[in-house]
Amino acid sequence: MIKLENVSKTYRMGSVEVRALQDVSLAVEQGEMMALVGRSGSGKSTMMNILGCLDIPTAGSYLLDGEEVTHLKDDRLAEIRNRKVGFVFQTYNLLPRLTAIANVELPLLYGNGRQGRKRSMAALDRVGLAHRARHRPVELSGGEQQRVGIARALVKQPALLLADEPTGNLDSGASASIMGTLQRLNRDEGITIIVVTHERDIAAHTRRIVTLSDGAIITDEPVLSPLDATEAERLGEDGS
Ligand code: ADP
Ligand code: MG
Repeated sequence: MIKLENVSKTYRMGSVEVRALQDVSLAVEQGEMMALVGRSGSGKSTMMNILGCLDIPTAGSYLLDGEEVTHLKDDRLAEIRNRKVGFVFQTYNLLPRLTAIANVELPLLYGNGRQGRKRSMAALDRVGLAHRARHRPVELSGGEQQRVGIARALVKQPALLLADEPTGNLDSGASASIMGTLQRLNRDEGITIIVVTHERDIAAHTRRIVTLSDGAIITDEPVLSPLDATEAERLGEDGS
């Protein structure tokens, strides 16, 4: 599904060049669940932006579902992104004045109406939050807000979900529950999931850990027995 070949990304700031990615090659199959780890500044967000078609490499090739995306114009890139990729953010990025279901509905832009409502409710249901549809973010726990964020990422049925530190603002109970949700979506719906994290025990919920250092992949290892958090998801955030 994803094929990066010799991808580099250089940012220019005045006369200074920052090489955020250097000659990175990576293949990810449909249905994989992978963690991208590495210290701050190692290039994780840069890589996610390229994988999610938010940005293009300075050099190298990126094939997404067999399509070369490195030379596309902004509007074509946006079209592919909208069709194929869902994003989950550390800070949820919900609009505070909108209800959960209205937040989920936002990416649909037009065709809201009754059909959009139905799809949004179905997305909320897929993350176990249908019963909170009419609540605003301030009335929801951190874990519940992140579930709304995941539902919003799912509403357009992307094949690829990119999550940048999705549990970074959550306590350990809520983190496990969110990882359980991502595991279930990966297992039951075959969605390809890539999670950026700096926490080893979060990465341990995936089946593959890729480590970046100074913009290069230094290790790429399978997780032999991933932690299973689907039970944590079923029990809820406080484990009761
Ligand atoms: P991480 O997400 O692992 O912390 P980033 O991908 O955000 O790493 O950053 C990698 C390197 O690229 C860092 O040195 C960072 O300062 C630099 N960088 C990231 N984005 C930009 C930008 N828009 N302009 C200039 N330098 C950037
Ligand atoms: Mg980052």
